[in-house]
Amino acid sequence: MKIFCVANQKGGVGKTTTSVNLAASLASHGQRVLLIDLDPQGNATMGSGIDKSLCETTVYEVLVDGASIADAAVKADAAGYDVLPSNRELAGAEIELVGLDSREKRLKQSLAELDGRYDFVLIDCPPALSLLTLNGLCAANGVIIPMQCEYFALEGLSDLVNTIKQVHANLNRDLQVIGLLRVMFDPRVTLQQQVSEQLKQHFGDKVFNAVIPRNVRLAEAPSYGLPGIVFDKSSRGAQAYLQFGTEMINRIRTL
Ligand code: ADP
Ligand code: MG
Repeated sequence: MKIFCVANQKGGVGKTTTSVNLAASLASHGQRVLLIDLDPQGNATMGSGIDKSLCETTVYEVLVDGASIADAAVKADAAGYDVLPSNRELAGAEIELVGLDSREKRLKQSLAELDGRYDFVLIDCPPALSLLTLNGLCAANGVIIPMQCEYFALEGLSDLVNTIKQVHANLNRDLQVIGLLRVMFDPRVTLQQQVSEQLKQHFGDKVFNAVIPRNVRLAEAPSYGLPGIVFDKSSRGAQAYLQFGTEMINRIRTL
């Protein structure tokens, strides 16, 4: 069972879109996938067609009360994978976790009980380097970093990479950056091309070959409760995420 975080402490950079579409892409390759929604906004839950307001057992109960993931996970039938849902209740976990034993390893401990049930676990992180994100990083084998090719994106990236290094050194020796995914890319914008080149210079092979274009079908899909690649498989955005899924499968073979 391979576990990956989709993380970037900035909001609105395509974490959730990447999480649901990668989950669906891997599922379309016949992989058994669990998507964990670690953001109190519950966008990955809703975007997978699960009504977050109807979920009684969520990732909150898993982290705070020690509920089992197997009991809390929901089948997202149309999307093709399972979801460990979240809703606003999770916002309180940040504070409640502080008083609990092994507060940064609660998710890792719960996932250990699941071994064998899934091929892939993807964790959609909240937009902060918080205790929730730390739980994701402690549980994962690797991190996927979606980013827009904008000037300030590079600045935020060093904070994230430093956090990952610290977690690797102190809490989780398995953790590594799997790759950087360029999202919402518009090749007509010169600055985006320049930042993309800089990324390749700095990070080399860690930059995924797949590039996700800005594509309105990807943005429309969540309102139908579907990942973009299920909503409109022929769209440019969907095709790019399918290519990314194939690249991920190949890349982790070499881990
Ligand atoms: P995050 O989870 O990092 O906050 P989201 O995945 O929710 O980011 O994306 C932020 C917004 O951008 C959403 O409205 C989403 O639909 C839209 N979006 C994400 N990726 C694309 C894309 N490739 N093309 C067009 N819109 C996108
Ligand atoms: Mg999100």
